[in-house]
Amino acid sequence: MTECGQEYKDLAEVDGKYLWHPFTQMRGYVDEKPPIIEQGEGCILIDVDGNRYIDAVSSLWTNIHGHRKEALDRALVDQVGKLAHSTLLGLSGVPAIRLAKSLIEIAPEGLTRVFYSDSGSTAVEIALKIAFQYHRQAPGGDPNKQKFIHLSNAYHGDTIGSVSVGGIDLFHSMYKELLFKTIKVTSPYCYRCAFEKSYPSCGMECLSDMEDAMAKHHHEAAALIVEPIVQGAGGILVQPPGYLKRVRELCTRFGVFMIADEVAVGFGRTGKMFACQHEGVSPDIMAVAKGITGGYLPLAATLASEKIYEGFLGEYEEFKTFFHGHTYTGNALACAVAIANLEVFEKERTIENLQAKIAHFTKKLEPFTSLAHVGDVRQCGFMVGIELVANRETKEPFTPEKRTGHRVITEARKRGVIIRPLGDVVVLMPPLAISLQEMDQICDATYESIRVITEAADYGRL
Ligand SMILES: *Cc1c(COP(=O)(O)O)cnc(C)c1O
Repeated sequence: MTECGQEYKDLAEVDGKYLWHPFTQMRGYVDEKPPIIEQGEGCILIDVDGNRYIDAVSSLWTNIHGHRKEALDRALVDQVGKLAHSTLLGLSGVPAIRLAKSLIEIAPEGLTRVFYSDSGSTAVEIALKIAFQYHRQAPGGDPNKQKFIHLSNAYHGDTIGSVSVGGIDLFHSMYKELLFKTIKVTSPYCYRCAFEKSYPSCGMECLSDMEDAMAKHHHEAAALIVEPIVQGAGGILVQPPGYLKRVRELCTRFGVFMIADEVAVGFGRTGKMFACQHEGVSPDIMAVAKGITGGYLPLAATLASEKIYEGFLGEYEEFKTFFHGHTYTGNALACAVAIANLEVFEKERTIENLQAKIAHFTKKLEPFTSLAHVGDVRQCGFMVGIELVANRETKEPFTPEKRTGHRVITEARKRGVIIRPLGDVVVLMPPLAISLQEMDQICDATYESIRVITEAADYGRL
């Protein structure tokens, strides 16, 4: 590692003086000398001092085909030459139209309409508002259905509506008084099963919990929202096989819309284009964001079924319009890059080629389970969570002030790998374009970092 140069020092000073970083305790932030990234090249990020790091969390779960991907760069430049932005409120735009068609072509069957916004949080807000409004006004709707069912450990974004259906106390308890009331059911977190059972002999007792909640609340529940297959920010919690299909069945049986939040899991991250497709599930509403532009620009979409869409049709004076729209909705630059992103998926057979990489990843993760403080290794496709614990027998967590996860990722940085933990769950989520050699580097650096930090002789006393 090179020493920090003058440019770094100058920028860091301004950073510390003016910027307020997201999900970051700013006290002590500058002292940790976080890299200041200046360039990208494939799966590599390069800082102002010329240090190179593998982007092993895809710049927060967004990047797909690597940085400075030629086809995406070109799409952006071409679109700039035509138009950067015009509104979709009452007008239309070329890239927004073309992208909508492409999204519907690859989405689970039954989703027929695309409503754009700018982030995962807004895509979720929109999904909730659509389900709610549908029931107030559609011929088949039921105005008593005003509530939402969601899972513990869920993460659906940071705006008030999406926080209301979230289930991570650390993020949500602060805002409790601001949030609307919901129906929360226990999520499948098999390593720490709330029912103290183990899969598969458990018969998925967590589903009985959901079934009970549905039986009790379906008359007042507009929709259930779920991250399909993997709860991401909750700790990369992989659902047992068959779980999602049964959730879909329960929603259908009880007449509750199913909202799939594919913001993290969509666009190949789990090994299929959308996670719902692992179990042949079609949600009524689907939220997508992160990977939609290949990690280039902020764009999101909420997809809905024709039945739901039709619930908003009416005469102008009936006011059945969906009164929602962010200013930059359907931004032309973002949509143009998103189209190019999907074209690369097809042209390079990204999903097909991913399968061998996933198998390699699985193999590289095997040794982790023998580390003394690794409690659980969870993987679904390119989403990996390594849960660190103080005691493997009792599964007792490390105390938060130890910041074990944070120490590990700081150590990994010294080894040229950028990762970001969720508490003491070390997350690996490389771009789908990662090479096998880079994947080996990520796994080796992470393994060493966990070992060095947690097996230090004096770690217990730190
Ligand atoms: C990241 C995420 C969101 C929020 O997306 P933003 O673009 O950060 O608003 C919502 N749901 C899931 C599952 C996510 O992982």
